Amino acid sequence: MKVTRVYLDHQASTPMSRHALDEMLPAFSESYANPHSDDHAAGWEAAERVEASREQVACAIGADSAQIVFTSGATEANNLAMLGLLETDRHRSRVVMSAIEHKSILATARALTERGYEVVTIPVDPLGQLDMLALHEAIDERTLLVSIGFVNNEIGAVQPIKAISQLCRSAGALLHTDAAQALSWDAVSVDEMGVDLLSLSAHKAGGPKGIGALYVGPAAADRLRPIIHGGGQELGLRPGTVPTPLCIGFGAACSSLPSTEQVAAWRALTVSLLDRLRALVPDIHVNGAMEPRHPGNLSIRLPGVDADVLAARLQPGVAVARGSACTSGLPEPSHVLRAIGLTAGEANNCLRLSTSPATTEEEVAFVEAAFASAIREMAKVPTYR
Ligand code: PMP
Repeated sequence: MKVTRVYLDHQASTPMSRHALDEMLPAFSESYANPHSDDHAAGWEAAERVEASREQVACAIGADSAQIVFTSGATEANNLAMLGLLETDRHRSRVVMSAIEHKSILATARALTERGYEVVTIPVDPLGQLDMLALHEAIDERTLLVSIGFVNNEIGAVQPIKAISQLCRSAGALLHTDAAQALSWDAVSVDEMGVDLLSLSAHKAGGPKGIGALYVGPAAADRLRPIIHGGGQELGLRPGTVPTPLCIGFGAACSSLPSTEQVAAWRALTVSLLDRLRALVPDIHVNGAMEPRHPGNLSIRLPGVDADVLAARLQPGVAVARGSACTSGLPEPSHVLRAIGLTAGEANNCLRLSTSPATTEEEVAFVEAAFASAIREMAKVPTYR
């Protein structure tokens, strides 16, 4: 089939996997009973489907299904993890996070500051790696929670959660990680990582939008409180009727994550895309370390190129992102790009291309041709120096 459009914005949202869609669609018409209705078989059946899905989500991250709380997405899971611990330990009033967290962490941290908590922001180096010394200094007996994103959504940087966990353990602080961007390549194991709380989002890994989960480990389980109030569903932590079809889609997506071999091929394809673009623009810089890195992330800086103009010129053929979807639309440059040391001008030369395991060589060739033509056209006008 001739390629006419290529979607390279998988870190903003992935297409639903065929399997997830097939599993989910009939659930709208078949499992419509309230899964919390325990007076009839229809309710029990819906509840069974929800529980089977919970099991699939738990299995994907090495957790027990009783530790999974369904939420509306990673934004809500992040809010629950942070706000749900408020006032649970009066000796601990410090929350530690990194400078490159997702907006849902940054904004929640601001809400904590308004409630009297001290929020310490740890810088990252030019490759997007956390300053472990500064982190070490910030974690002590006053620290309630450390929240460090596992995989960054803009530059694909991966943080050493296990080492961070050891620092938290020795000071008695809880550790939360936003793993929304990690699930799609099967690198998540709550035990190996040693986390107490972990956020997931279905639509970053072939599942539907509007559902995610918070893993709640043993140390957090008896402390976490709900942040909205209602009927006591989801272990009392997230009241509201659980959306059966979305749970089914999420579970199915978790059961069809790419294999190690598929992830290796995916990574190689992303590198081949970089090679092709480098042949066109030799001074391309990659934002963030090449290793460790999300296998589909290509956050690049094209010196002298106005990324707004380039992204617009690539439409409608190639979907790319300027910074993250969550920051685009705002006039300020991405806080992540600024945190790795880029100037506002340099941040304006950056694009994020994000591939998926299903991206093909033909698509990569199409993207190369589209970039070549866009850059040629831009060279004719003064925006390209
Ligand atoms: N955290 C990260 C790292 C993300 O990339 C996103 C999505 N941009 C979110 C949280 C929010 O996820 P959701 O859309 O499920 O609320």
